[in-house]
Amino acid sequence: MFSIHHTLPDVGSRLCSLAGIAQLDKQTNASLIPAHDRTHPCHHFSGKLNAIMHHKISTTNNMLITRRLEFDAGHRIPNHNSQCKHLHGHRYAIEITLSGEIIDNEGQSAQGMVMDFSDVKRIAQEKLVNVWDHAFLVYRGDKQVCDFLATMPDHKTVIFDVVPTAENLALVAFNILNPAYQDNYGNHLRLEQIRLFETPNNWADCVRD
Ligand SMILES: [Zn+2]
Repeated sequence: MFSIHHTLPDVGSRLCSLAGIAQLDKQTNASLIPAHDRTHPCHHFSGKLNAIMHHKISTTNNMLITRRLEFDAGHRIPNHNSQCKHLHGHRYAIEITLSGEIIDNEGQSAQGMVMDFSDVKRIAQEKLVNVWDHAFLVYRGDKQVCDFLATMPDHKTVIFDVVPTAENLALVAFNILNPAYQDNYGNHLRLEQIRLFETPNNWADCVRD
């Protein structure tokens, strides 16, 4: 059986919450507030074009960027008292939110970005999405299903130390991807949040403390 075991280090240092939505929205809005204020030189220009041309990004250039990827996987919640105890699958989506300053290195490919979205995607695919896509995500304690999957040659199975709910998948994803996003430009790049959609209407956020 092809299987991958995910351990769950550092569980206590992450806030995994369905209530994190308002927090992210608040952060996002704050980051998108124009950097200038009433004292900024932009306001001394009468024309809108002049204001745009002469606008300089000041010290408040911290940003949040988010990349979304989707994958298919099977799971079950073995002790659930309703439908989720049955073997079934989802079209999952994962949204990776990074924070950092805008890179201003002249001539760099990533100039003007926090991180190239294609790099955000590439790293997430290598470390996580390609591993979980079209796999069965199973709890180690779900012995019945683990034993069954082990009888299937070359079956793509990912074994978790925790029940594969949206909350736990978000938490495991955060711990896998957190060390994967490196600050290569000195712009304080870091992973801030993983949002894991089990369905379009149900998701969990794992937010950096
Ligand atoms: Zn499910």
